[in-house]
Amino acid sequence: MNIARMLRNVAIATGTSALVACAGTSGQSASSSSAAPAKTQTVRFQQIRNATIKVEYAGTTFLVDPMLAKKGAYPGFEGTYNSHLRNPLVELPMPVSEVIKADAIIVTHSHPDHWDEAAKQGMPKNMPIFAQNEEDAQGIRKDGFTDVRVLGENTVFNGTRLIKTEGQHGDDRMMKMPPLARLLGTVAGVVFQRPGHKTVYVAGDTVWNSQVEDAIKKHKPDVIVLNTGYARVLGFDGSIIMGKEDLYRAYRAAPQAKVIGSHMESVNHGMQTRKDLRDYIAEKKMDPQRVLVPADGESYSF
Ligand SMILES: [Zn+2]
Repeated sequence: MNIARMLRNVAIATGTSALVACAGTSGQSASSSSAAPAKTQTVRFQQIRNATIKVEYAGTTFLVDPMLAKKGAYPGFEGTYNSHLRNPLVELPMPVSEVIKADAIIVTHSHPDHWDEAAKQGMPKNMPIFAQNEEDAQGIRKDGFTDVRVLGENTVFNGTRLIKTEGQHGDDRMMKMPPLARLLGTVAGVVFQRPGHKTVYVAGDTVWNSQVEDAIKKHKPDVIVLNTGYARVLGFDGSIIMGKEDLYRAYRAAPQAKVIGSHMESVNHGMQTRKDLRDYIAEKKMDPQRVLVPADGESYSF
């Protein structure tokens, strides 16, 4: 039997080099031949602004949660901290024409700091958009977008698998108050998976809870992106997203993963600054190679 050819065929099918596949079978362990291919292909992450990020997989660029408005375009969120401040608090770090260079959009939920009027105006109407559910998809279609799809357990785009994850946009107490729960709405996250590539988990606007813990256990991400801006609603103690302690939780729950803090210093109700977060990372003696707090525009390759 021509093992070399067989491995080459497997490698072609899974997008990895034959060399990697060979390396997987040359070890002592018999089980290594059935293991996933080594994750040697580069995955790129870029922080744009707020929760807007780009994830690049095998030449496909996913733009997540585009908020494209100029600084101060919208009033602050009513009933939240610092609502006298106008959103977004800062400008985009690059021209809009640069931000919208993508192959697909993922909208984790339809709050205006994740899918704003400027994005609805500025994104090409035929660009594929993944929404968390049919309700959000219908809203996006009403805005004139022609290729709106609903994210599922096993959605594939250009060979990259997208897996919808669950989340909760506030703590249990908030969710028990119908008017607030309605405002906070339903949210999703997404896991990016592809043979030969690092698995990336973008948790979205969620608090730390069992849904997040389960997603980490199930998908074993190599890179975890958390919205750590600690956004707060007036009259409630906690936050409606994550904060520094949640980043530390993720750091401990996924000891091999890189953990990225995003969604900071861009909207009025976010109470967690990057400096606070960096100070906390130092205080807890977290490995600075493993916890990343990108500036707007900054990117990493994994
Ligand atoms: Zn948000």
